[in-house]
Formats: sequence, C-alpha cells, structure tokens
Amino acid sequence: MSSLEFIKECQEKVFSGIGISTEDAEKLFNTPEENLKDLAIAANEITRDFNGEKVDVEQLNNIKKNACSEDCTFCGQSAFFDTGIDTYQLPSPEEVVEKATKAKEEGAESYCLVAAWREPSPKDFEKVCKIITEINNKVGISVECSLGFLTPEQARKLKELKVKRYNHNLETAKSKFSEICTTHTYEDRLKTLGIARDAGLELCTGGIIGLGETRSQRLELSLELARLFPEEVTINILVPIPGTPLELQTELPNSEIVRIFSVIRFLLPESVIKISGGRENILDDAGEELLQSGANGIITAGYLTLGGNEAKKDKEMIEKIGFKA
Ligand code: SF4
Repeated sequence: MSSLEFIKECQEKVFSGIGISTEDAEKLFNTPEENLKDLAIAANEITRDFNGEKVDVEQLNNIKKNACSEDCTFCGQSAFFDTGIDTYQLPSPEEVVEKATKAKEEGAESYCLVAAWREPSPKDFEKVCKIITEINNKVGISVECSLGFLTPEQARKLKELKVKRYNHNLETAKSKFSEICTTHTYEDRLKTLGIARDAGLELCTGGIIGLGETRSQRLELSLELARLFPEEVTINILVPIPGTPLELQTELPNSEIVRIFSVIRFLLPESVIKISGGRENILDDAGEELLQSGANGIITAGYLTLGGNEAKKDKEMIEKIGFKA
C-alpha cells in the first residue's frame, strides 16, 4: 500500500467512527516527507467534517506572573532561572473585567485565567473565585482556568462558578518528563486532570514541543492526549527564553510541527486543537498552514510572557484562508 493509500485508509477509519490504532498513528507520524502534504490535507478534511469552518479564538490573562516554585526548564516564570521577566501579584477583579471585556469585543470566545504557581493557596483561590464571579456578572464570556494543581474541592468550586474548561498541560512525553521538571511528576499532572474531569470540568491539555524530545516522544505525547480524550488540545512550540536551561535549544523544523498537529487530528477528530505559544515566533506563517493541517484554534493577542499578534491581525489571517473567526 502506498503512503497516500494508507493515509486515506486511516482517514476512512476516522470518518467511519472506528478510529485509528496506535500502530496507525505511529505510521502516520512517520509519513515520508514527500507525502506530508497529503497527511496535512487529510487532517484538514477531518477537521472540516467534524468541526466546520470555525476557528476557536481565545485570549489569556496571566493573572499571576513569575517566581513559580517549579523548575520546568522551558519556562521563563520559574524562580529557578534568572530570566529578567517582571513580576506581579493577582490583579483586582475590576482590572481583569476590563481586559475580559476587551477580549470579548475583539472576538474572543473564551478567556483563560492563568497563574504561574504550583497550586493556588486558599487565600489566592478565593481571590480568583471573586475574579471569575465578576467576569460572569459583568462580561459574559466563557471563562477557563489554568491554576496548577487542584484539590477536588477547588475543582468543584470552579465548576460551580461555571468555569467551562480547565487547562493543565502534560508538557511532554512521560519518558521525557523527568528531564524537563524535577519538582513534580507526570503522575501529579495526570492526577489534577482526573480531579478536573471528576468535577465535571471540560479538559484542555497538551504540551510544548521542541524541548529536544524525539519524534517518537511526540507520538507518545499524542497518544496520551488521545487517551485522555480532552475537549481541547493545546500545543505550544518552544521559544527559547534567555536564562532558562533551554535557551540554546534548536528550533523544530515546521515539517515536524505539521506532523504532530495532523496526527492529533486523526486521533481526536472532534476536539479543538489549538496552536498556542510560539505560533508567531517559530512558524513561518503565524499558523496559516497548521490551521489547514488539523488545528482549529489559536490564542490571540499575546501569551504568558511573550507578545503575540493583535486580535485584528489574526482575524484577518483566519478570514484570508477561508475560515471563520
Ligand atoms: S510551566 Fe507552570 S509549573 Fe512549570 S515553572 Fe512555569 S509556571 Fe511553574
């Protein structure tokens, strides 16, 4: 069977609801370079069939920046590394409401509150709950959270406050994890995802590629994501940050990035697959190709420590390639 025939056979399995096997995913991941475009086109057809033309656009608010107690080697917010990033504590609900209102006006469908800490202290968690309540009362945008490790009580409280989705990334493959973080484990991450799921929150999970992992470790991450069956997958592409242990890491070629987005689409046909940090810095086209290779979501107007394209510019890009923002 030719590579193109194999891609079509796998696509048929997805359309018929059987889904692809681990072996299929591995073979798709290793599609020869000359058939990579065919893989991307097939992934795009799956995206359109299951999700239509809509691109999910999200904005983030880094509500607690810097000096995190964890040692994730890619992260500019870890207190272990001298990255010169400015630091601030939780803002007032009014400040966040103002930014969430702007995000809504700019067309964002969801607004994610992100905090750079291992886990929220009871006092900080209470403050975040006030912020969520104010956004719900005054803005009316779908609120998502990324607050680190959660207790079951905290997860239930977030659900009670109508938080739609909880983000907690696996970061990388299990076999790579101990090289990129020593202050917590992969299992700790899985545990919080389970807690969020048990509380009835939708899941957003993913990772960061380009950490020096192998292609087979990117496959390993993709298969674990498929097993968790999240409503949303978020894939960041490493932008090496001066001062972190990965500051000199070589960039992944765009073709490797296309592979992971395409194969995740085969594994999770209905999920939102979002291009996250690194989109503007690493990709040649700010995501146009990936939005036609399996991805159907972006983060706009900047990230946690990196700037990004303005919302208007991203909206124009989405419309230019024939999709709806
Ligand atoms: S990735 Fe998250 S947990 Fe790790 S150092 Fe950065 S903010 Fe902390």
